[in-house]
Amino acid sequence: MARVTRAHASANAAIINSVEADMSQLTSELASLVRIASISEAGFSPEPIHEAHDLVAGLLRDAGVRDIEPLDLPNTYPIITGAIPAPPGAPTVLLYGHYDVVPPGDESKWRSPPFEPTNKCGALYGRGSSDSKANVMAHVGALRAFDGKPPVGIKVIIEGQEEVGSAFTTYPPFDPELFRSDAMVIADLGSVRPGVPTLTIALRGTAGVTIEAKTLAGPKHSGQYGGAAPDALLAVLRAIASLHDDLGNVVVPGLRREEWTGASYTNEEFRELAEVQPGMPLIGTGSLGERLWSGPAITVTGIDALPVEKAVNAVAPYARARINLRVHPAQDADDARDALIAHLRKIRPFGIPLEVKPGATGHGFAAKPSGLAYDAARAALAAAWASTTVNVANGGSIPLVNALQTAVPDAEILLFGATDGFSNIHAPNERVLLDEFRKTVIAEALFFEEFAARWAAANPLRAHG
Ligand SMILES: [Zn+2]
Repeated sequence: MARVTRAHASANAAIINSVEADMSQLTSELASLVRIASISEAGFSPEPIHEAHDLVAGLLRDAGVRDIEPLDLPNTYPIITGAIPAPPGAPTVLLYGHYDVVPPGDESKWRSPPFEPTNKCGALYGRGSSDSKANVMAHVGALRAFDGKPPVGIKVIIEGQEEVGSAFTTYPPFDPELFRSDAMVIADLGSVRPGVPTLTIALRGTAGVTIEAKTLAGPKHSGQYGGAAPDALLAVLRAIASLHDDLGNVVVPGLRREEWTGASYTNEEFRELAEVQPGMPLIGTGSLGERLWSGPAITVTGIDALPVEKAVNAVAPYARARINLRVHPAQDADDARDALIAHLRKIRPFGIPLEVKPGATGHGFAAKPSGLAYDAARAALAAAWASTTVNVANGGSIPLVNALQTAVPDAEILLFGATDGFSNIHAPNERVLLDEFRKTVIAEALFFEEFAARWAAANPLRAHG
């Protein structure tokens, strides 16, 4: 046993050395990729998208990935697919990432131009550096650590329209063979804070609802009619007010809420990340993990009413509001939306019935973090960061993850990467910490080794037969 452990340790040391030797090359290739403004949003030139596609496809090919070809779907930028066959008896790992980015937004808020990769204080700044080009390059680096002959089979899926959604988002269940694998590395996330190896084991679901009140044929003088005329805006506001208690907890029946047992942000970190103004409280009770990840959240995202500058003294005949619901990772998003709709239909503020319309839903994701791949990933991340791996969740949804889980229910889905909680993704001054990037490459390479070893130990007949 001691011999095995020593052999194992020296294999890991060789992998780490190989990654370290490649890091400066890998980082300059990351910079080349960040320089390409591969914005997938409509209205931006498709040229850079294709340029980024070609660069990534070439890097993967040079890293040993075979049969690289684009998967073409309607109105969807080409998806890079490719594979490395598994050694006999070894499991297969699917590597996912995306080469598109969101627009830079207000360029005056950037301290360096968004598409001029800038190396400063141990970080690489630029749009897409963290979301998700460093993660794509981590796949490349992990494969190169084995000279293109990793101890596991590889499938690669790198898409070009993650940020805006496409036909690909719902495609996996229609072509499960393409995604068939024993584990998937979804590299589009990262550490809860720099230095803390982190697996994201759950994603909240989402649902939209619109409420509407029509009470009068037209606006009526608030002096003459206010007090008795049914006020549409007041009705909508009262309905909205019924969604939370006085502390800010959601009180709609039927929405799942559980204690969060993993790691989370501190209050101070959250205040910094959310840019909470001094003196303002956070709302809700319970741990931040419970409020952000394993409980529901309801936000009013739009309301139709007269703007204050145009206010007239009249009772509102009509009002409308859009409500966004975030759903416990394991609750069916349609069920959660229906619970919210039932609550809103029952309310009838002042006796006024509201028109409640269902909006789109996206299911959450809850991993089963207990298999061989999870054990291997926990060990690999802990070794790369020299710290204990923690579990977190994410309040945002990644609908593709749900589609992948549906397509290949037995695959263990792992979410980690080089994007730490302070990376400013989708904001000015996006950056990736080069140390987090390096550790991610090492972690992914070690994961291949750890997973192959654990798989062989658990399947001795298959490994030798
Ligand atoms: Zn993004």
